[in-house]
Amino acid sequence: MVDWAEECDVLVVGSGAGGCCGAYTAAREGLSVILVEASEQFGGTTAYSGGGGVWFPTNAVLRRAGDEDTIEDALTYYHAVVGDRTPRELQDAYVTGGAPLIDYLEQDDDLAFVAYPWPDYFGKAPKASATGRHIAPVPLKVPDEPELNESIRGPLGRERNGEPLPDILIGGRALIGRFLIALRKYPDVQLHRNTPLEELVVEDGAVVGAIVERDGERRAIRARKGVVLAAGGFDQNQEMRTEFGVPGSARDSMGPWSNLGKAHRAGITAGADVDLMGEAWWSPGLTHPDGRSAFALCFTGGIFVDQDGHRFTNEYAPYDRLGREVIARMDAGEMTLPFWMVYDDRAGAVPPIAATNVPLVETEKYVDAGLWKSAETLEELAEQIGVPADELVATVARYNELAGKGVDEDFGRGDEPYDLAFTGGGSALVPIEKGPFHAAQFGISDLGTKGGLRTDTVGRVLDTAGEPIRGLYAAGNTMAAPSGTVYPGGGNPIGTSALFAHLAVRDMAGN
Ligand SMILES: Cc1cc2nc3c(=O)[nH]c(=O)nc-3n(C[C@H](O)[C@H](O)[C@H](O)COP(=O)(O)OP(=O)(O)OC[C@H]3O[C@@H](n4cnc5c(N)ncnc54)[C@H](O)[C@@H]3O)c2cc1C
Repeated sequence: MVDWAEECDVLVVGSGAGGCCGAYTAAREGLSVILVEASEQFGGTTAYSGGGGVWFPTNAVLRRAGDEDTIEDALTYYHAVVGDRTPRELQDAYVTGGAPLIDYLEQDDDLAFVAYPWPDYFGKAPKASATGRHIAPVPLKVPDEPELNESIRGPLGRERNGEPLPDILIGGRALIGRFLIALRKYPDVQLHRNTPLEELVVEDGAVVGAIVERDGERRAIRARKGVVLAAGGFDQNQEMRTEFGVPGSARDSMGPWSNLGKAHRAGITAGADVDLMGEAWWSPGLTHPDGRSAFALCFTGGIFVDQDGHRFTNEYAPYDRLGREVIARMDAGEMTLPFWMVYDDRAGAVPPIAATNVPLVETEKYVDAGLWKSAETLEELAEQIGVPADELVATVARYNELAGKGVDEDFGRGDEPYDLAFTGGGSALVPIEKGPFHAAQFGISDLGTKGGLRTDTVGRVLDTAGEPIRGLYAAGNTMAAPSGTVYPGGGNPIGTSALFAHLAVRDMAGN
């Protein structure tokens, strides 16, 4: 017998994009909802995102901006890049579900989005979009809402570098803030921070509630319609990463400290099947003086070299493809960490990266930590970063030759729209010729793990026989991602989280 402390229709676990969208949908559908968030702040990894974008083809926001994409083209693209690694019907649910979700959300004045052109990540795949299928939340000024502002995680500059809290919500913080404001309209909503889910309560094969911990006490919450696990990935749990073979480390992952995989564990204990457990949304990680390599993107110069002083990839490729390239080469025994971005002095000693996500601190700190090196000659630079001098000199000479031709015959840098998105209309191949020469240290980072509980097209968690577990749903990085082993376009992670939590609650609401 469970001694229920609280009761609701829908229990939502986590408060990233999925948790907030799930709770919002439940409230709007007239269901009572309790959201439990493990950490001291709402928002999860979602709130760290500077863009907060979602990849939802043919949605109304894109349409108003003149987009003429079709859902058939979007499906063709998504199928082409994901392949058969995940069920076709799950892929279709994602691709076709985003536009109706935006219609639903835009009926609420508190929720507003803007088109944010961002090329698809496989520019040569059939029906790839050069302008993307991506929209972002409209920023929100909150000078009169200090409590709301404080309650939302991030931004990364504040959390990692102690920067002041801005009084405007941007990107993922705007998405979370807008949901929290929208939720105020509904009476039957309880949002609890510092309240981790510990385990699920299963009766006769159905999930009927959960045990959470609050103020040091275990409390049972009954969920009449179901439980949505939108608790992010297990990015911060090094033990689980090791157990499931996720490359990289918890230290270099971008998720909040609280993404520990308890919801994954609870789901597995309740009988859930899992998939893609070794997967994450990858990226190269610029190493900062705190020792953590952090997701960095939008490079505007430089080349990457490995321990042999060789280029090994198209440096301007989308971050997940870059990360996977490094991991594949490490697996093949061809590469070790760290690797280095080598660049010249045309913009000074700071590496040519338009979006470091974690804001840079003073240059001396990187230099003192041995992370950024400078030298008058490439030979000296090679010695400092421990690669063969003649190889680095030859690599840069070859790269400069390609830059002169304007064509990267070796790695195709500049061949896809994404490669050219941050060049300001210039060439993707910026020569390395103006000394002093510099190098910045890189490792591997991730934006969160993406393996998890297998679900059907409305987020119902499946058991190992492929049957839905009654009362249990999963979304976002707690579910096995519909995108499988690729990252089709910016906005996939947040889009997947928001959409499947929404579909889950709509299913519970009976529509
Ligand atoms: C800098 C940066 C930029 C990014 N930009 C984008 C972008 O523009 N578009 C995009 O799609 N993706 C982006 N990503 C990736 C994306 O932010 C994440 O993959 C996504 O937000 C994950 O969403 P989620 O809802 O699954 O989990 P999260 O947002 O991580 O939320 C999970 C929440 O669950 C809580 N939780 C965990 N365990 C428990 C428990 N046991 N009980 C209760 N609560 C629990 C956590 O504390 C957390 O608050 C970016 C990532 C970073 C770091």
